[in-house]
Amino acid sequence: MENIIPETLSKVVEEISRLPGYGEKSAQRLAVNILNMPRGEALDLIKTFMQLLEKVHPCKECGIYTEDELCPICTSEDRDRSVICVVEESFDAFAIERTGKFNGLYHIIGGRLSPLEEITPEDLNIDSLIERVDRLPVKEVILATNPTVEGEATASYIYNLLKDKNITISRIGYGLPFGAVLENADDFTLSKALEHKTPL
Ligand code: ZN
Repeated sequence: MENIIPETLSKVVEEISRLPGYGEKSAQRLAVNILNMPRGEALDLIKTFMQLLEKVHPCKECGIYTEDELCPICTSEDRDRSVICVVEESFDAFAIERTGKFNGLYHIIGGRLSPLEEITPEDLNIDSLIERVDRLPVKEVILATNPTVEGEATASYIYNLLKDKNITISRIGYGLPFGAVLENADDFTLSKALEHKTPL
């Protein structure tokens, strides 16, 4: 059978499907949706993506996505510098921030350990976490990776690196169903999860 899919379309589908969470079908849908959009809107979308790449980058200190060198949390005078909440991605921190129940600092490790996806500790911002714990007047680290198999494995890996330092290490989780993803949890559940963190 002759391959009649335009070469550029196949290339776009192939590149989108390399993104985590995108299979071939969803990549095809995204590519076709963009082609079906009014041209002006599609170009605006692409421009917004360009701006995203140009302007947004990880905070030099905590790794949260920001448009400045340091994020508003790292530069704030009002944050408690003795507590660091460790999360997988920026959107987890944004979700916790929305609850208004946390006034410490964050550390974004940028993912989770995953043998399946070949994500090892070297791929995550774990060294910089240890460095911050040693440098800052940290008294407590809250491990707020997602309550999934991989999130738990990541939390216990970090726990082992920190356990001999003279700090409290706690884990959130209460009320969050196993397998849940922080950024999708509602504010109430997330607030409760923070209130009911357990020391490890
Ligand atoms: Zn920061």
